[in-house]
Amino acid sequence: MASIFRKIKRKIKRTLMGKSESSGARRGARIGKQNDELAAIDSQAIAEQLLAAGGVDPESYLFITLDSCRFDTFERAEAPNIKGVGDWYEAEAPATFTFPSHMAMFIGFTPGVAASKEPIKNPKAGRIWRMANLAGGGKRNDHCRVPGRNIIDGFNQMGYYTVGTGAAAWFNDKVVTTKPLVGDFQDFVFTDIDLDAQLGFVLSNMKEQCDKKQFVFINVGETHVPYHHRGAPWSVDENPCVPFRDDNSREKSQERQQLCLEYSDRQLGPIIKLFLESGASVVICGDHGDCHGEDGLWAHGFYHEKVMKVPMVYHLRPND
Ligand SMILES: [Zn+2]
Repeated sequence: MASIFRKIKRKIKRTLMGKSESSGARRGARIGKQNDELAAIDSQAIAEQLLAAGGVDPESYLFITLDSCRFDTFERAEAPNIKGVGDWYEAEAPATFTFPSHMAMFIGFTPGVAASKEPIKNPKAGRIWRMANLAGGGKRNDHCRVPGRNIIDGFNQMGYYTVGTGAAAWFNDKVVTTKPLVGDFQDFVFTDIDLDAQLGFVLSNMKEQCDKKQFVFINVGETHVPYHHRGAPWSVDENPCVPFRDDNSREKSQERQQLCLEYSDRQLGPIIKLFLESGASVVICGDHGDCHGEDGLWAHGFYHEKVMKVPMVYHLRPND
């Protein structure tokens, strides 16, 4: 009852003061300020400085998820930095939306090709990261075995510096539901869609911890609806891909997701180069795709071929 009175009181106060902004808008403004500060950091210069100073430890990992990136978008896109990491291919995502897909990846179940017997390409044949405590043990072809409740906890136990950043709402660390995804990172920031802010955060923290092996995670949001990036010549408020709506646009969805991926590729270039030239490992994949009107469906969170098929590319440091 008391909370209803508080709400009414707040509403009267806002009306009297001429303020009608919602709590969502205030939260947005807070994130906007945080992001502008982070995006102002010259992340490209830091990546170059770190490389000039000898690079990252070769046992480090850079793990990037391109949120909602469809395989055909990836295939069409001009993305030389990401595509240059290694042989890229069409894989099946471990789940239909962000939370379970990342939960699966954070225990080593990366996207895979079910028909392949090749380790890593099919995580059932050999994993990039194998939880050392899972019943059934590991495979000879696993790249790395990690202890703990998930790979982030495991890398912490192994003495790594773990830093992460997420754009999708499932990574909002102000919400308790996200704890299993974000709770184990030593440093983490939720930015909403803003890769420039994410890179500022990640690289400035990496610089502080450059004497340690690193596990760096970036969940890229530009490829997630509404498909927007800093400086894009279209409005962030126009979402061409909304579930159950009749006025969506397949053309805009396809074109904008591709342009957002191409923008992300340009921004990610320096950090990818830093890891590759250090001889460290890089893993980049989609967490799920999106429907763009196929079978009358839009976005993700349900089973559909366009939701399950994602790009996967990696370069792993050779095991000793
Ligand atoms: Zn997602």
